Amino acid sequence: MSRTVYVNGAYVPEEEATVSVFDRGFLFADGVYEVTSVLGGKLIDFDGHAVRLERSLNELEMKNPTSKDELLEIHRQLVERNDIDDGLVYLQITRGAADRDFAYPKDAEPTIVLFTQAKRGLADSPLAQTGMKVISIEDQRWGRRDIKTVQLLYPSMGKMMAKAAGADDAWMVEDGFVTEGTSNNAYIVKDGVLITRHLGNEILHGITRKAVLKFAEEAQIKVEERPFTLAEAQDADEAFITSASTFVMPVVEIDGGPVGTGEVGEVARRLREIYLSESLKAAV
Ligand code: PMP
Repeated sequence: MSRTVYVNGAYVPEEEATVSVFDRGFLFADGVYEVTSVLGGKLIDFDGHAVRLERSLNELEMKNPTSKDELLEIHRQLVERNDIDDGLVYLQITRGAADRDFAYPKDAEPTIVLFTQAKRGLADSPLAQTGMKVISIEDQRWGRRDIKTVQLLYPSMGKMMAKAAGADDAWMVEDGFVTEGTSNNAYIVKDGVLITRHLGNEILHGITRKAVLKFAEEAQIKVEERPFTLAEAQDADEAFITSASTFVMPVVEIDGGPVGTGEVGEVARRLREIYLSESLKAAV
């Protein structure tokens, strides 16, 4: 079935959804994006994504072509028009089409595209029961990972390296410390303490991360936001990742060795449950 896609103010069939070959998103990866989950036809943490979008745009001196209210309405329209029960809404804004020049163009109109992807049973992934396997790879991305840009080639290569190794994802390591997964934030649990890297330019400020840390504190779980080494992760009792599309997902193996008992950990299981139930209650 052909989807309805939103492009620069119009809802069009996907076959007719086009952008210019001069678009700076295409030529320079000069664009930012957000992915919002949909569960039961409702948007999970829309507000968080809208706020981070604004921040990414500001960091790149890019105009936002929509208001938050308009953005919410577009998201809702796409969910309805495409009959999405469980799935995702992908949003991308680029600096727009202009003559190819490294300097930002002065008068380009931003390009805005949104589309949906249906993911039946998004919250019931079998991986949540078994846990994921990750490998470690060197973090070779640029230095402003806090900006959610569409330059995702290295994360994409990392995912392929993981697949080639028979794993589900890769954790990236810089100067001995884990930064994050290819498209998710990384956590370990040791002696009941939840450890995840502090915010900075080195990682994306995950919307799910923010919510999960809040729920963890409310559940009296001690949280330390600090760098952790790969060796610490391998010696941890538990590990997991978070992202808007995987929620809280346990990690049971790193570089072929088990994490803790090699089974899904109790903290990960509990936080996934809390995250899903609380987020569903607050969904719009
Ligand atoms: N880190 C990276 C590199 C990511 O690509 C993502 C997902 N976009 C995340 C973390 C998780 O962020 P969020 O919880 O907002 O999906």
